[in-house]
Amino acid sequence: MEITDGVTYQQDLLTVGVYTEMTKLSNELKIQAFIHCGLCAEEFMINEHQGESPQSLKNYDVGWTKEGIQIWCVRHNVNIMHIDFEGHKHPANTTRKEPKK
Ligand SMILES: [Zn+2]
Repeated sequence: MEITDGVTYQQDLLTVGVYTEMTKLSNELKIQAFIHCGLCAEEFMINEHQGESPQSLKNYDVGWTKEGIQIWCVRHNVNIMHIDFEGHKHPANTTRKEPKK
């Protein structure tokens, strides 16, 4: 743990190079726009999956790569997004609230 400019950072052992900034990033749901696989979205738009939502349809893997982070559609076995951090370290919050029981 190190202190920088009065902000406490905690290195996450599972995410090498990514630091958890405890004071700025929320661990609440803050998504403003969902990311979808283009092929899943096409199927949804032509009503191949009536009664399902895009959220219920998705089956994504998300993980670290050598360059950054990648989102992969398991249903179509295709890349959705691969972000290159270009060697930079970015703050991340890897904490969670207590799950509702
Ligand atoms: Zn897909």
